[in-house]
Amino acid sequence: MTAIDELFANNAGFASSLPSGHLDVRPSRKLAIVTCMDSRLDVFAALGLKDGEAHVLRNAGGIVSDDVIRSLAISQRLLGTEEVMLIHHTDCGMEKLTDDGFRAELQEATGVAPGFAIESFSDVDADVRQSIERVRNSPFLLHREVVRGFVYDVDDHRLREVATGPIP
Ligand SMILES: [Zn+2]
Repeated sequence: MTAIDELFANNAGFASSLPSGHLDVRPSRKLAIVTCMDSRLDVFAALGLKDGEAHVLRNAGGIVSDDVIRSLAISQRLLGTEEVMLIHHTDCGMEKLTDDGFRAELQEATGVAPGFAIESFSDVDADVRQSIERVRNSPFLLHREVVRGFVYDVDDHRLREVATGPIP
């Protein structure tokens, strides 16, 4: 039995434990969260978030990539979100590699240089601030006034806000 088989079976129990219901496609808290794919961060539990309340965009590092901007543009322009919360975390896998090293590893293994940026980082606070700036500077987004960045501690489960400068 694979992990997916187990989870597929788990879903049957989950679905039967809940009443059927329909929530609006537009997040009720008008909020989008961008965070890392890290398996130790349960975004809903850590923030007291419920279904239907926020968009949660995840990738390796919680990086504000072009694809995250694409999702945020849809989130804001079509689905009414207005605030952006960025969450990086301690002990991130993206601190354990370098752009050049991983790029060379991929090229060596496949013969092809990846067309995407790796986006590793060594200073989590600096990366949060860069992510905030990318959101603030994107012309595709309607709402760039409330963009805040945090670091989640995977050991003590606390969020710490990263201080940023004024909106340029
Ligand atoms: Zn991570």
